Amino acid sequence: MVKPKTEEEIELLRENAIIVSKTLAVVGRAVAPGVTTNKLNRLAETFIRDNGAIPSFLGYDGFPAALCMSVNDTVVHGFPSDYALKEGDIVSVDCGTLYKGYNGDSAYTFPVGEVSAEVARLLKVTRQSLFEGIAQAVDGNRTGDIGHAVQSYCEAAGFSVVRELEGHGIGRQMHENPGVPNFGHQGRGARLSDGMTICIEPMINAGGRGVYLARNGWEVRTADRKPSAHYELTVVVRKGKPEILSTFDYIEGKVEF
Ligand code: MG
Ligand code: MG
Repeated sequence: MVKPKTEEEIELLRENAIIVSKTLAVVGRAVAPGVTTNKLNRLAETFIRDNGAIPSFLGYDGFPAALCMSVNDTVVHGFPSDYALKEGDIVSVDCGTLYKGYNGDSAYTFPVGEVSAEVARLLKVTRQSLFEGIAQAVDGNRTGDIGHAVQSYCEAAGFSVVRELEGHGIGRQMHENPGVPNFGHQGRGARLSDGMTICIEPMINAGGRGVYLARNGWEVRTADRKPSAHYELTVVVRKGKPEILSTFDYIEGKVEF
């Protein structure tokens, strides 16, 4: 049984979610051909610390950076490096914070300059699949309802779902129960109840669903070297309609800050 969060805990998770959302926007403004992923990582770490938070990924099981920066065929958990982004690349930026004892965790995949029509479609479909999943995060549903919504939306578009990684509960720990797979069957899996806080994070491949773990033990890459996209938001399960704590509005210029 997963214990729902109190409203006080949810407020602290919301504060983290806003810091993470703004951090991703700061990174997004700097994404351009020629910029290294190391530079983006430094910008994010500075912004997180300037806001009184701690970059929770840094040192997590030995992870070496504040952000996961996953370019093109890297699905998730990429290391920032001296690699300079090129026109037509995509980069998934995953950010976590620790603030007042609670965690924030969200991700966004940015196009670098102009991307191909097929890659643009991958981004659009993956982003929308997250919202298809979120719509199922209501009291009385099960994690399988979320997974089924993500999977059916992406597979109908001709893309495939990475199955080795999944979303998760979030609170004092970055990864709490329940696991939230991006595939599954309606009515199956852990039961969702009002006040549960979860991260939903589809990882969707342009080609086949196969992935492998790189030799550094962290980076997950597509087996066929085709690109993969990843979007993540933190959500509160509610009765009737979910409440989304993090937001893409800063990134997408819908809200100024
Ligand atoms: Mg994340
Ligand atoms: Mg996550």
